Amino acid sequence: MRVESCRVCKKIFKILEGDHVKIICPNCLENPEATAIALNQYIKKSPKATINMIYKNTGIPIAEIQALAGEGKIGMTPEEVTALLAARQNNLQAMSKIINEQNNLQTMSKIAEPKEKKSVVRMHTRE
Ligand SMILES: [Zn+2]
Repeated sequence: MRVESCRVCKKIFKILEGDHVKIICPNCLENPEATAIALNQYIKKSPKATINMIYKNTGIPIAEIQALAGEGKIGMTPEEVTALLAARQNNLQAMSKIINEQNNLQTMSKIAEPKEKKSVVRMHTRE
């Protein structure tokens, strides 16, 4: 059995043999605000960490990471979490489909923008 000090409340907590590495205590893990603080600290230190690494090194469940990203509480967008998950489980075709659709939408909106501006300019020159 090992002990860790919580990155959020600084309290000492026990980690059982064979348990996940945890950087926050069980109390803080139940508090989304505290979890977000610990996650942001970790992402800042390890910006290239995969979702699996984040989970292994923080003890914060992947579902919780997704939820916090969705609420905009961590320095990651839900799309980034989805992309990380897809990279981990690239056999999940459904996920890559979602990402492709999102990329297509982004490309479409990028193409649509300059066209709108051009038509506005044309209207002005006609007047
Ligand atoms: Zn704590």
